[in-house]
Amino acid sequence: MKIRVGVIGGGITGLATAFKLLKKRADRIELSLMEKEREVGLHQSSHNSGVLHAGLAYAPHSAKAQLARSGIRQMIAFCREHDIPHEQCGKLVLATDSQEVEELEKLRTNGLRNGLIGLRILDREEYLEKEPYAGGVKALLVPEEGIVDFKGVCDGLRREIEALGGHVVNGFKFTAVEQRGGEQRLRSSRGEEVVVDYTINCGGLYADRIAHLFGVHPAVRIVPFRGDFYRFKASSDRLVNDLIYPLADPRYPFLGVHLTRLITGEKEAGPNAVLAFSREGYNWWDIHPGELGSALSYKGFRRFVKKHPYMVASELQSTLWKSHFVKRLKPLLPEIEERDLEKSRSGVRAQAMDKKGNLAGDFELMQGEHSTHLINAPSPAATASLAIGDWISDKVLSYLD
Ligand SMILES: Cc1cc2nc3c(=O)[nH]c(=O)nc-3n(C[C@H](O)[C@H](O)[C@H](O)COP(=O)(O)OP(=O)(O)OC[C@H]3O[C@@H](n4cnc5c(N)ncnc54)[C@H](O)[C@@H]3O)c2cc1C
Repeated sequence: MKIRVGVIGGGITGLATAFKLLKKRADRIELSLMEKEREVGLHQSSHNSGVLHAGLAYAPHSAKAQLARSGIRQMIAFCREHDIPHEQCGKLVLATDSQEVEELEKLRTNGLRNGLIGLRILDREEYLEKEPYAGGVKALLVPEEGIVDFKGVCDGLRREIEALGGHVVNGFKFTAVEQRGGEQRLRSSRGEEVVVDYTINCGGLYADRIAHLFGVHPAVRIVPFRGDFYRFKASSDRLVNDLIYPLADPRYPFLGVHLTRLITGEKEAGPNAVLAFSREGYNWWDIHPGELGSALSYKGFRRFVKKHPYMVASELQSTLWKSHFVKRLKPLLPEIEERDLEKSRSGVRAQAMDKKGNLAGDFELMQGEHSTHLINAPSPAATASLAIGDWISDKVLSYLD
């Protein structure tokens, strides 16, 4: 008899995990994936920068470094096989003064330790050929990185899951589990029920809450950090060709506002990082009083604000005032002016934070009885999703064996 496995969450990590499970053992697994929205990939997986990260800045041996390495290769192969738009256009990380040049060297060494290939420090004249309007004094070229249509990847994964015999159920908002004998009855807000033997939680912004329902209590809570993007007006999009990043502040898992070309050809600036007033709140007026109250009353969040007042104030200012946002971009693009940009979209990151106000730096999985929970999967989890799928499916299959 087949083992019934349920996956909660039809974002890119849930889809990739379901795909890998079926690819490895379709003979043993009967799979149902439950997604509350009408389509897959409508939250973080399509509200992101659309960048393929190769594992440059992550601590060597961390899950982020290892899974980004394997993930980017698998992602490019998947896109090629399924005709999904992507491009390895390369990225520049800029140093704006001599101190930053030293940091750039360290970043290159870190990237080499993580196995990246083709990393090169470029002089200004060299990188101006690629990005004629870029600021800075030196740049690190990361040729493996690029851009992709992550929503297209989600739709491609869904098709593969269904071709392998899996069921993807949309409009199923998981709200409760009843454990009876070896069985788990997964209930939706509309009273539907899916019965499984094992559950994998890839619930993104709600992964911590879903874990609690299975009796798994993470030491962290998900704090939603919204990131706003601006779009370059057509008259100004010559200012950026591909990807221009600053040196990220190592104290935070966010990469700092950067400049990107989307796979659609549009050029963007962003995202910053401010507390979202609701876990899936894409505008400042999307307020969920319960979720906002829960974030503000969380000891961890209050400690985070106390420890990083400058960062919190600066991120907030860049949401409130376009002039501040543009000021942050000036070191990357000295010619940029407010008139070059118009407000476009936002995304919300599911970032785990502990009670001391520390942001979880690495991907995090937790094990329950007959359940596995992906508790922290922020960037670069979209790039790394197929490798995350291997990580989770191997654990689950060895447990089931
Ligand atoms: C602004 C921003 C920029 C980013 N840039 C990049 C980038 O350039 N490159 C990169 O690799 N990564 C990037 N990331 C990170 C990346 O997008 C995420 O790490 C990744 O999409 C996480 O995927 P996920 O499947 O875990 O979460 P999600 O995509 O959020 O999926 C979770 C799914 O679970 C569903 N769900 C939740 N609760 C329930 C429930 N109760 N019942 C049923 N379904 C439920 C949701 O509807 C959702 O579809 C960025 C993220 C943001 C926000």
